[in-house]
Amino acid sequence: MEIPAADAATRLAAVEENIARICKPARRDPADVTLIAVSKTHSPERIVPLLETGLRVFGENRVQEAQGKWPELRERFPDVELHAIGQLQSNKADDAVALFDVIHSLDRSSLLKALAKAMDKADRRVPCFVQVNIGDEDQKGGCPIGEVPAFLAKVRDADVPVAGLMCLPPADTEPAPFFALLAKLARDNGVEGLSMGMSGDYETAVQLGATHVRVGTALFGPRGG
Ligand SMILES: *Cc1c(COP(=O)(O)O)cnc(C)c1O
Repeated sequence: MEIPAADAATRLAAVEENIARICKPARRDPADVTLIAVSKTHSPERIVPLLETGLRVFGENRVQEAQGKWPELRERFPDVELHAIGQLQSNKADDAVALFDVIHSLDRSSLLKALAKAMDKADRRVPCFVQVNIGDEDQKGGCPIGEVPAFLAKVRDADVPVAGLMCLPPADTEPAPFFALLAKLARDNGVEGLSMGMSGDYETAVQLGATHVRVGTALFGPRGG
């Protein structure tokens, strides 16, 4: 189903206004917050209205789904910047490096090795956020907090550009302490970018220093809806 263009513009304006409103007291420039429209599960028909508002930064969590949708959309909107936000398997490294402009889920040495090799082969350096398992959850991906400094050193050694740190705080918990912890980890490790905040908590994330927010539902409406 197509979202009427007016709806896409209205939703985008609301999210952008919220970001600007939070930035003011935090003395932040809204231009320093990149809004990533998370288009996973949504059809090209739902994505085009947002592209037509001028938005160009999008996020997908599955390589195969993104490969099916974006090459064609990019023919119409060549300046799209595509971000990989989901867990990535090492055997998808070549495809990911070819398709994505930024990767948010670098979290382990095996994946680092695969991505570095893929970047060498393609002669294309794709900036990566190091995903941190900020809530120390067994079921979640992400580098353990204590291993962040050593892993960042490995990433730099592999000549993979570090975009920053990324996290997904535990569900159903106040996210602010986790965002604050990620911001502190970034400061302590001399890293600039902070990819944190989704539809439910991007305002809190911006307050605590997010440079990239990953927003799906607030822009597209519910997935599968
Ligand atoms: C789906 C997803 C989002 C966006 O979630 P919404 O709640 O729809 O905004 C953000 N980050 C990641 C890693 C996701 O998988």
